[in-house]
Amino acid sequence: MHEKVRVNPGRCNGCGECLVHCPKGPRIFKIVDRDDRKVCIVMDASFCLGCTSCLTRCRNAAIELWKGG
Ligand code: SF4
Ligand code: SF4
Repeated sequence: MHEKVRVNPGRCNGCGECLVHCPKGPRIFKIVDRDDRKVCIVMDASFCLGCTSCLTRCRNAAIELWKGG
């Protein structure tokens, strides 16, 4: 069982705070251009340690974190 992390693209403004403060940031998050705006996508949630740093840093409550199977 490992952590699962997901970004809600409707709430995300692509600020990058999650990527910067995540201990595995570049392995998990990536900021991309989509529909003329920036948004963060999760590339590989399997690297997530469940530290909740991204949750704390995201001012838009765009991140969902839960225990996955
Ligand atoms: S919970 Fe921690 S390790 Fe997992 S994505 Fe968020 S900041 Fe990264
Ligand atoms: S911190 Fe939140 S708003 Fe900023 S890029 Fe990450 S998910 Fe998007």
